[in-house]
Amino acid sequence: MNFHILTLFPEMVEKGLNTSVIGKAVDKGRITLKTHNIRDYTTDKHKKVDDYPYGGGAGMLMQAQPVFDCFSAVREEIEKSGGKSRRVIYVTPQGKRFCQSMAEEFAQEENLVILCGHYEGIDERVLEEIVTDEVSIGDYVLTGGELPAMVITDAVARLVDGVLHNAESAHTETFYHDLLEYPQYSRPEEWKGKKVPEVLLSGDHKKIESWRREQAVSRTQKRRPDLYEKYERSSRCEAYLLQNKLHHIDMLETIRRGNAEILYFGEEGALLYEKNSGAYMITARDEESGKRMISHILPEGRERLEGVFSDFPGNSNREVTLFVSHQEFMNDFLCRQFGLLVEMECTQAVYTRKEPLPVKKGMDIRKLDERFLPVLKEHYDTYVEEGYVEERLKAGVMYGIFEREDLAGFIGTHKEGSIGMLEILEAYRNKGYAKALESFYINLHLRNGWTPFCQIKTGNERSFGLQKSLALYPAKEKLYWLGADESLV
Ligand code: SAM
Repeated sequence: MNFHILTLFPEMVEKGLNTSVIGKAVDKGRITLKTHNIRDYTTDKHKKVDDYPYGGGAGMLMQAQPVFDCFSAVREEIEKSGGKSRRVIYVTPQGKRFCQSMAEEFAQEENLVILCGHYEGIDERVLEEIVTDEVSIGDYVLTGGELPAMVITDAVARLVDGVLHNAESAHTETFYHDLLEYPQYSRPEEWKGKKVPEVLLSGDHKKIESWRREQAVSRTQKRRPDLYEKYERSSRCEAYLLQNKLHHIDMLETIRRGNAEILYFGEEGALLYEKNSGAYMITARDEESGKRMISHILPEGRERLEGVFSDFPGNSNREVTLFVSHQEFMNDFLCRQFGLLVEMECTQAVYTRKEPLPVKKGMDIRKLDERFLPVLKEHYDTYVEEGYVEERLKAGVMYGIFEREDLAGFIGTHKEGSIGMLEILEAYRNKGYAKALESFYINLHLRNGWTPFCQIKTGNERSFGLQKSLALYPAKEKLYWLGADESLV
């Protein structure tokens, strides 16, 4: 991931970030961190970048021209290297409050541009022209945007694959699953008469895990009632979905992996927004219930439902282009309402055990990088959304199986979390590669603490057979992907 920071004080940002974990991530090439001095772009012969505000008032304002030219140069640089500057953040005390889920959202980007203001801020016109997100780090006013830019960069960078030493730490720490982290202790066992809780010395991992969970829950309840309320909701929603685990595994995993906005759950069913894929997921008791839930995500005429959560930001103005419907009776209504088409009918299959699967010895399985894009594009024809395979490769979720140095097959994780995109190239079929690759990949998901699942397209008997041989249980019901792309139907 590449961070581009536009500032009048580049050395401040560089000195602040080029040490410790983030500095090492830069050295290892996991992230790049580039500062751009806005002053280098001023056309003023005295190198001036600020002026008095029209209408009077205290202080000076950064002018539009140098900011715009600096941004244009950065955009050009990003585009030259084949990227896009989709998110341009202006750090400002007037912005949306920065939080962990925003960090997770930003971590999905390949390039992040952060603009730092100084003095009294920046001429409004250039902000209107280039900024996509205004972000504040809290309700106080700082002298400049450099510290906020550093805060955001640090929080986002540590979520990038390979930046943290121990990937698990991001899964247990504060804010993951809307819980604060449990208390921690290190040597010595006794300090100033205070002993480390007995259970942590017991070596019983199950007991330790459940003690930590209890601590995290009670600590959150005491210290952050607002967060606890969110945690409680997702737990209740999970309990509801667990009534039919196999059929709801996508929704359950979306919540557990921290990618869900729960828009509604209650007597009528459940409605989620999956943040990575932009898909809405719905399960409804009956058609009328489903329609009532949907009314909640429509910008106009929202019906208030018992149990509807209306405090999720932005859920009313988002464009609806992708729906996962868990009951056929909802499809007609969803298609009409959002101009969608039923693109795929499938069945979810779930690996319900905790034990890893054996992987046949001598199998050469590796993570794939962008060099494999042409061959993946050539052989993966099921999903034709523009740029999808490339995005998955860049997300670092594609793995390949090799015979000598030749790619024999590949597998990946879809944006919404299911295992898929499995293809064995024709010349390498019937050699046990699919089984080895999927077993390896299931183990990878298990290591992340996830429940592995996949979605089998109706009629794909080969895949059904493979999933059965790997002990994945299929749901009884069908699942429907509804999208706006006619070419997929
Ligand atoms: N006059 C501005 C206002 O009242 O909104 C405040 C300007 S502040 C003194 C200068 C710069 O510091 C801002 O342009 C912004 O980039 C940055 N800044 C200050 N406080 C911030 C905060 N809490 N979060 C994010 N950025 C902040």
